[in-house]
Amino acid sequence: MRRKSKGLGKIKLQTSKNLLIGAHVSIAGGLHLAFERGASIGCKTIQIFTKSSNQWKSKQLTDMEIQLYKAAARKHKIHPVVAHDSYLINLCAADNEILIKSRHTFTDELQRCEALGIPYLIFHPGSHVGTGELEGIKKIVESLNLAHEQTPRFKVKSVLETTAGQGTAIGYKFEHLRKIIDGVDEPERMAVCLDTNHIFSAGYDIRTEVEYVKTFKEFDAIMGLNRLVVIHCNDSKKEFGSRVDRHEHIGKGAIGKDAFGFIMRDKRLIKIPKVLETPKGVDMMDDIINMKLLSDVAQEY
Ligand code: ZN
Ligand code: FE
Ligand code: FE
Repeated sequence: MRRKSKGLGKIKLQTSKNLLIGAHVSIAGGLHLAFERGASIGCKTIQIFTKSSNQWKSKQLTDMEIQLYKAAARKHKIHPVVAHDSYLINLCAADNEILIKSRHTFTDELQRCEALGIPYLIFHPGSHVGTGELEGIKKIVESLNLAHEQTPRFKVKSVLETTAGQGTAIGYKFEHLRKIIDGVDEPERMAVCLDTNHIFSAGYDIRTEVEYVKTFKEFDAIMGLNRLVVIHCNDSKKEFGSRVDRHEHIGKGAIGKDAFGFIMRDKRLIKIPKVLETPKGVDMMDDIINMKLLSDVAQEY
């Protein structure tokens, strides 16, 4: 069922149940505008960048920006807001200059989240660029320890995302994330984000109920489902095990819509925000369609 929303004159998704679904939304024009955008398409949760995702530098948040953001957060029933860090950050970069910049920027991103009251900062573990996975994991642990040392008692969690394992990316095995969490000095500040496209490309199948159950059993055994705080719902442009990270609209890719039904109907995952990172056109129509699909498969049985 759809109805017109007052906000931006767009079609709004009507979810019958309290499904915690949403999308990555733009912060163009100001962080606070993300709420209006999310609300206009019926998001119950949103993901944002707290700064331009393809730039190292960012202006410090002003009190005004923080106030505007918090006022918008109070106004809209969108909770939680989750943040994704800049794609430039590589917490195990082989190049020392990039490593230093990455560490600095990651700490800055934690500070931005804390100032805004954002509970989760999602990040990709990093790419070891040839130094090897063990060395990479060691560096990531060091990077996280440095960042956490500089942000004592922060509430925002550092949320490791599962990756497709493209190139030399770490995080395509649940064990990688486990090792990182075990290595850091403050493991209680760590959580995990599962990306459906990434795990599928990494070789964890979820297309049938049997495979879905198996994959989540493995995730639970290695990580503990209690570490899981966000799910990125993306279908995959590339085939199973491709190790390539290319997101596709829900039901239009190699994963298919059944898998999203298993996720949406899994009672253990009800309270976990499910966020789309699927391709977008100029308007937010694609997000509306993809959220409707997630909502529909939640009702199937
Ligand atoms: Zn990500
Ligand atoms: Fe993702
Ligand atoms: Fe991705």
